[in-house]
Amino acid sequence: MRAHSFIRLQAIFAAICISVAAYAQNFTITPVPEEVAERMRGVSLPDGAQISLSELRLLTVSYFDFDGNIQTGQIVSNASVARDLLQIFHELYLARYQIASIRLIDDFGGSDDRSMEANNTSCFNYRLVPGTCKLSNHSMGVAIDINPVQNPFVTSRFTVPEEGKKYVDRSLKMPHMIDHDDLCFKLFKAHGFTWGGDWKNSKDYQHFEKKP
Ligand SMILES: [Zn+2]
Repeated sequence: MRAHSFIRLQAIFAAICISVAAYAQNFTITPVPEEVAERMRGVSLPDGAQISLSELRLLTVSYFDFDGNIQTGQIVSNASVARDLLQIFHELYLARYQIASIRLIDDFGGSDDRSMEANNTSCFNYRLVPGTCKLSNHSMGVAIDINPVQNPFVTSRFTVPEEGKKYVDRSLKMPHMIDHDDLCFKLFKAHGFTWGGDWKNSKDYQHFEKKP
């Protein structure tokens, strides 16, 4: 074997090792560790919530931000959808799908409004559906919101977040807007999730959910 072929083989082998290590290191599911539970109590997980920490999981995922840089994000979800979400976010990562931010909603004081304004992707939050007295599926950790600014929640009465008003017209097809051709939509659908953009009355373009 000539020297340069050997060096090339070594480089390929190193690249494979790095990609395997990256998957192992940056795509994980664990029980919610105590330091994360501390952040959640009284914020995304209020006293009297009808769900326990043992039903939830912490996911750590790598993703590409809007500048194309690799970031590490955290997601708390129901254990029943944790494997789906890990696979979906890994596929999104491999496709270099851009996500603005993936932080726990507790970093925003449990405020869905503040998280949406920051264009943050998040899953578990024990809260009501905006503008209603109904418990959201986010309360069970089976719903997730992706890039909320480009994919706002639109009803006949309001649009949130405020910045999302620029993206109500879905025919604009601007970057990061989710539609039926979007990889995000395709992956969530393949894993049995439904999309809020398909709802009849209000449209929640950021929202995917999988009921147990
Ligand atoms: Zn949602």
